[in-house]
Amino acid sequence: MEIASVIVDVPTKQTDRAFDYLIPEQWRGTIQPGMRVIVPFGPRHIQGFVVGLKTESEVTKLREIIEPMDLKPVLNQELLELGNWLTENTLCFKIFAFQVMLPAALKAKYEKKVRLANRRAAIELPSKLQAFFENDGELDWEEALKLGIGPMLQREAANGHLEVVYVVKERVRKKHRKFVRPTVSQYELEEALQSIPAKAEKQRQVLQYFLRHYDEVELKTLIDELKTSGSTIKALVEKRLLIEFDKEVYRDPFEHRKFERTKPLPLTDAQAQAIGPILQSIDKGLHEVFLLYGVTGSGKTEIYLQSIQEVIEKGQEAIVLVPEIALTPQMVHRFKGRFGDLVAVLHSGLSAGEKYDEWRKIQRKEVKVVVGARSAIFAPFENIGIIIIDEEHETSYKQEEMPRYHARDVAIERAKTYNCPVVLGSATPSLESFARAQKKVYQLLSLPNRMNNQDLPAVEIIDMREELRDGNRSMFSRKLFELLQDRLEKKQQTVLFLNKRGHSSFVMCRDCGYVVNCPNCDISLTYHRVNEQMKCHYCGYESNVPKNCPECNSEYIRYFGTGTQKVEEELGKILPEARVIRMDVDTTGRKGAHERLLSEFKDGKADILLGTQMIAKGLDFPNITLVGVLSADTMLHLPDFRASEKTFQLLTQVSGRAGRHQLPGEVVIQTYTPEHYSIELAGRQDFDLFYQREMLIRKLHHYPPFYYLALITVSHENLINVVSATEKMVNYIRSQVSDKAVVLGPAASSIPRINNRYRYQCLIKYKREPNLTQTLKTILDQYQKDTKSGLQVSIDVNPVILM
Ligand code: ADP
Ligand code: ZN
Ligand code: ZN
Repeated sequence: MEIASVIVDVPTKQTDRAFDYLIPEQWRGTIQPGMRVIVPFGPRHIQGFVVGLKTESEVTKLREIIEPMDLKPVLNQELLELGNWLTENTLCFKIFAFQVMLPAALKAKYEKKVRLANRRAAIELPSKLQAFFENDGELDWEEALKLGIGPMLQREAANGHLEVVYVVKERVRKKHRKFVRPTVSQYELEEALQSIPAKAEKQRQVLQYFLRHYDEVELKTLIDELKTSGSTIKALVEKRLLIEFDKEVYRDPFEHRKFERTKPLPLTDAQAQAIGPILQSIDKGLHEVFLLYGVTGSGKTEIYLQSIQEVIEKGQEAIVLVPEIALTPQMVHRFKGRFGDLVAVLHSGLSAGEKYDEWRKIQRKEVKVVVGARSAIFAPFENIGIIIIDEEHETSYKQEEMPRYHARDVAIERAKTYNCPVVLGSATPSLESFARAQKKVYQLLSLPNRMNNQDLPAVEIIDMREELRDGNRSMFSRKLFELLQDRLEKKQQTVLFLNKRGHSSFVMCRDCGYVVNCPNCDISLTYHRVNEQMKCHYCGYESNVPKNCPECNSEYIRYFGTGTQKVEEELGKILPEARVIRMDVDTTGRKGAHERLLSEFKDGKADILLGTQMIAKGLDFPNITLVGVLSADTMLHLPDFRASEKTFQLLTQVSGRAGRHQLPGEVVIQTYTPEHYSIELAGRQDFDLFYQREMLIRKLHHYPPFYYLALITVSHENLINVVSATEKMVNYIRSQVSDKAVVLGPAASSIPRINNRYRYQCLIKYKREPNLTQTLKTILDQYQKDTKSGLQVSIDVNPVILM
């Protein structure tokens, strides 16, 4: 095999295929698929992934690989195949599909060092190499290439003797610590102990320690544990009984936290029933998808933990996905508490170095469980026994840039390969998943009750139209104000929730709650300040803002929206004595700010926590007895067909924040449309009825889960170019698909201009269109090849956010 097929790191249409390169003589037999290599490309040297080896190529004059970047493959065969699957299913460049699976530290240029993989290797290495690694020495990879011993190192890496580490320079954290270990045998230690005089008691204690623990130990730990001193150790080092050395330790973000170990709880009947089929699937090695449907506090996490236990006992591995925002210390605690050091944690709060450390624990099989946000789905495990996705309805599982994958789809694809179950958990499942469960594509498991059998909090829905009629123009209803005062007096805490998201504004009548919708698409029209028009960004429908409300003739019809800052100001006026913590993108931008603000609130440093949806999750403090939702409408009228679903999920979730412990909770939801089913049913926490109502509407308007969607977004600096290009695409697609598909557009995107580029889109709704993927590829081909036109075209298959 002297030829390697390489996907090069040049993300363009023309280069989106494997290129053949000759493997230089010295590297033959060591370069393998899944390794990264440096290759010549035009006049440049660039990175690429080896995806295959072969003996022949159609190309006659092959160029040579310059050098490998890895000693061992960074992507295994399964992940390479998954990359192809991603490319096909999300229509992305191949190079993006491979890069998304690796931690950032491997993407950039970092210093690379070779070192011993284990102690035993020191004697098993060929003698020529041994000298480089004496005294835990490391060898610079560039250096090794210059010395011409690269291929030799690579063979030893394949034998498991050597490994490569990427040195990510971090400003603050130290990664080396001082360690001590005995240099002589246990027998010799024993002898030495006899010869040390009794008055050197401290030294004797240290030797006794090493007789009990004949292993290396961190210097600091040893000193703390034996209450001894550095000079005592020094003395023993001078006697050549011990040796001090530096060692890289993982930058464990949780290292200063103690995790109390927990044991599996005896399951309730409901839990036992729910876990049964999962355990069976694990035992039999069957791929099945389960939808674990249970309110917050119904014991889902305990089911995850015990399923994972079973998987670990079988010698397999588990991936647990949690939404980024819910990946709180509390959550991590539960997994670390049960499985200790067998857990790696991956989330965006980690530095590049920390992420790399966690990833390496997975690759080296030092852990059995990974808990992480979306990208953890690519954890390089090779014997997966279960994949769990908590809060499966969360939109953050979809990546909004190339590759536009949904973690749920990737999970199912990987689980098929490993013949293992996928468990999707939620109190408010996505309509897509619940519909699949109804059709028995997924197996539905239900946990209908909270563990503590406590009632869900009382929810009161306040009609803001009435407040206005009675002369209250403030953003707080009289009821909410009254309860806020009450909680201040009782020294209990309140969470105030304001949903503000996106850049869109809708037009609403403050007298009757009427919102202007598109007659074709059943989404609210978006208000455009520039020409004071309202537009539908699915189909392009336009209309003027009415002077009076078409429903009630009121003049109070205008666009709508309030920010957290404004609410904070008003709170200061009406409740000057209240201490308020505001949490939004402005106050939580810096690393750790989110956690710090939450813990201040937990410690009682404020009476009111005011924030956007980021506060909806993970809040579980005993003193919260009131939750207020200031305007449930802002999310309800987003120009997105999922607006009702999102509103229902969010209101259910925030309501669940009150009264989780002994103190009973109350929830106040303010709205201009109290009769809307998603608000009314969220108030009653009735998912089943909500599901039925929403499915009818989805069916009527040809939306998922009845239809699939594909969204094409086109942008250009010139408005005419965008419109005409989108128009052409729309016509082309119409000519290629069946008459059962609906092709909408061109329409202005809900954000019609970003960075001086106009944005138009085409939305395709379809059931079965075998030809569509090819049609979309053709469009991409054409426009991505034609870089001179300045048009940017992106395609999102199964989009989650349609704004
Ligand atoms: P969910 O993940 O659905 O929110 P949890 O698994 O967190 O629910 O359970 C809610 C609470 O009930 C937790 O405090 C948990 O420790 C406790 N719990 C769960 N299962 C049991 C059980 N079988 N016996 C006793 N307590 C339990
Ligand atoms: Zn009206
Ligand atoms: Zn429309």
